Amino acid sequence: MFINWIIFVAPICILSLVASAIGKQSDMSIVLETLSWLMASFFTAAAMQVVFCYCGIYFAFLRQNPLKYYASLIEALVLAFTTSSSAATLPVSMDCVVKSGKVPAGVARFVLPLGATINMDGTALYECVAALFIAQAYGLALGFGEQFTVVVLALMTSIGVAGVPAASLVAITIILAAMGLPLEGIGLILAVDRLLDMCRTAVNVFSDSCGAVIIARSEGEQTKLT
Ligand code: ASP
Repeated sequence: MFINWIIFVAPICILSLVASAIGKQSDMSIVLETLSWLMASFFTAAAMQVVFCYCGIYFAFLRQNPLKYYASLIEALVLAFTTSSSAATLPVSMDCVVKSGKVPAGVARFVLPLGATINMDGTALYECVAALFIAQAYGLALGFGEQFTVVVLALMTSIGVAGVPAASLVAITIILAAMGLPLEGIGLILAVDRLLDMCRTAVNVFSDSCGAVIIARSEGEQTKLT
């Protein structure tokens, strides 16, 4: 009953928050430009994480071309992107990793559910970008030490974020409160959150799947794709 009520009023509340945040700006094009910077920063950071970080770690451990393994994950990544939920994607990622990725079922059954619960790389990345964006949108400059604190808080809170759509908004409010940043700033990112959620969920699922094959190899399993 209470949940139904929340689902019913959520769109109206979000509309009001976004409208009030936008209403405070005199020029609409500034808002759109600022939001496009947020999106561009997050997409660039996520792409760098996938290309440099995961490819590098994959190659360092497995000494083989990661692209074949990545191709085997496509179904899970598309589902993660469309549902924005790493929990809902779990059965499909398990299937992809075991059947196409040749990761032993025992390793996948241990690593993937654990990863879907505590390993949220895309989410941690997004929390940092969002917190810095909100600070800058309000004209508050964060020094190096404060930015480092945001990173640590993002890493810690991402562990507790649930694998469901928009879950990291809760973690972002915790970071904002801890850093003394305006909580209503969350309204600024709501308008584009769903799109960014789709991407960060795909990154979350991707990192868990890479973790699974690396753990399998470190356990001496044969994971070479033909
Ligand atoms: N939607 C994300 C996931 O399911 C969590 C979040 O960052 O909101 O992995």
